[in-house]
Amino acid sequence: LDLRNEDLKELRELGQGNGGSVKLVEHIPTGKIMAKKIVLIDAKPAVRKQILRELQIMHDCNSKYIISFWGAYLAEPNICICMEAMDKGSFDGIYKKTGAIDIDIVGKVALAVLEGLTYLYDKHRIIHRDIKPSNILCNSAGEIKICDFGVSGELINSIADTFVGTSTYMSPERIQGAQYTVKSDVWSLGVSLIELALGRFPFSESLSDDSDLSDLEGTLSPARPGSMNSLASLGLPPPRKRNSAAAKKDKRKSKGVSLQGGGMTMSILELLQHIVNEPAPKLTPEGRFPEQAEAFVDSCLLKDPDQRKSPKELLNDEWIIYSRTSDVDLQAWTSTF
Ligand code: ATP
Ligand code: MG
Repeated sequence: LDLRNEDLKELRELGQGNGGSVKLVEHIPTGKIMAKKIVLIDAKPAVRKQILRELQIMHDCNSKYIISFWGAYLAEPNICICMEAMDKGSFDGIYKKTGAIDIDIVGKVALAVLEGLTYLYDKHRIIHRDIKPSNILCNSAGEIKICDFGVSGELINSIADTFVGTSTYMSPERIQGAQYTVKSDVWSLGVSLIELALGRFPFSESLSDDSDLSDLEGTLSPARPGSMNSLASLGLPPPRKRNSAAAKKDKRKSKGVSLQGGGMTMSILELLQHIVNEPAPKLTPEGRFPEQAEAFVDSCLLKDPDQRKSPKELLNDEWIIYSRTSDVDLQAWTSTF
């Protein structure tokens, strides 16, 4: 498929991320509906071409747990990546609509992510690097797939130069600068599963009051390359994503938050320190969830990466074996929101 901007008609916006936006589009010549991700990249033409070449690997990623890739092209100064559109969106949006997600459905999410990660690594030696609810998508056929994996080294570099994105799903070893491995993705999966099952980000209680990022709404969004280096490199979740309920009753609105020196910056450093130094989060309260689910999440969140299992090994976990056979009707579930 030879994709060109002129052939794509924008239907609506699917979402905004740190690095750009995602639109629902129709490919006029074929009538195909797709999701077009527009990534603004501040890189030299040679680097852009290299990124485009590297993205072609995605044509070979064929798995029912991975978003299909329709093609990528340059639309200066952006790179457009066209992929399968998932009509129920991502799991962050889903739980924000539905509240905490039933644990049996969370089990299906765990299974799908592990299958996707195992496929990427076994077949292509690709490590995802960005597992989080916004990169786990769902459609009304009840399929669950992962997207936005790190296929292009150059793209990772270019984005790292501008935004690091949300890194609060980052494993302790990553925060400490160790090399990325498939096991880092397993940590991020553990954090994501707790978030879906509880209906809130698991570290939210460890962020002090001062770190309410909704204060920053509007100041930083939409983000521009370079404008939030310090913010992103500290692993801040993008302001727009935070629950703004707290902000509504927030009387500190006018305080103004300094990114460099304010209390907030410290709080984020504290959060990263917390991830490294404190016990890992859990499915709480004890007894609310099946023991097997608790045990699985605990094993994802072992702080020592040498003890943590790989996605492939975790496919043999008891809870995952149970989740594979459990008869929860995902298709019916998706019709409830
Ligand atoms: P970040 O920029 O921190 O990685 P993000 O994953 O939310 O956050 P994007 O990858 O730009 O940012 O995606 C923005 C939103 O668009 C997502 O939250 C998701 O809801 C939606 N989205 C992305 N890809 C698709 C797709 N293929 N089908 C449907 N919705 C999608
Ligand atoms: Mg994404």
